[in-house]
Amino acid sequence: MQPLPNMHKPLKKFVFLLTIAILTITGQSGISNTDSLSGTDADTGAPSETDTPTELIDSAQTAPTPESPASAPVICLSPGHPSLEGDKYYEAIINRKVAWFLTILLLEADFNVVLAVNDVPPDNLFFANLSNEDDALWSDLQVMPPEEKANRCNDAGADYLISIHHNFAYSPTMNETMVFYTVDDNYRPRHTEVIPWAENTASYLGKVMETDDEYAIADMERIGFQLGVLSNAEMPGILTEASFYSNPDERARLNDDLYLEKEAEAIFRAFVDTFVRGHQSPTQ
Ligand SMILES: [Zn+2]
Repeated sequence: MQPLPNMHKPLKKFVFLLTIAILTITGQSGISNTDSLSGTDADTGAPSETDTPTELIDSAQTAPTPESPASAPVICLSPGHPSLEGDKYYEAIINRKVAWFLTILLLEADFNVVLAVNDVPPDNLFFANLSNEDDALWSDLQVMPPEEKANRCNDAGADYLISIHHNFAYSPTMNETMVFYTVDDNYRPRHTEVIPWAENTASYLGKVMETDDEYAIADMERIGFQLGVLSNAEMPGILTEASFYSNPDERARLNDDLYLEKEAEAIFRAFVDTFVRGHQSPTQ
């Protein structure tokens, strides 16, 4: 005898399906909502257990209408890779999945979203039962250098940028969370708010991914150069390296879309904590 299914999960999946179907139909990479940041209730950022099915479905149907005024902050999401032919296709796929989950959360919280790259159709990404390593998915990927993604966020007039990545190491045991911000030649960030934002994001991601350690770090300090997507963007931005897909156990977890959804929730909650609640760090 099969246990009765959890009714919340299928509903949530249906709303998600409906939302991305609408996004696909409208062909938008820029998505608007109507409410301003000051009007956003921080505690209602994510879909809650108490939302009725009708409310959730209505919000999914009305959120991405092209005629909505763009008065709320615009968050540009930039899923990483490929920046060259053959560049990290597996990572590029899971980065895009997290970007879609994060898009849904931000829209439901009345933010506007711009996708710097929207190459793999969500129907293929989520509903075609393709593995993250399937050629049919990889063939959709569009090569684009990080600078061009930054320019797309600039052209959209975005207020914030989140570049989504996962990490690789030759040691299969390594699994850490890193969240980067960019600094100038004097090791100073152009936007000071990126530091608490990166710290909050690293903290949330570290807990959800259960990595061995988490860091918020300046690109120049850690890697000795400026990350192209962050340094070419006019708005404050962070780059998330949530975990290491080169770790076999972590890779198995990353192949579960529900785990990627939790990753997106962590990034979302850190954003709300930093810019809506104004916390300097989750522990204060
Ligand atoms: Zn990457």
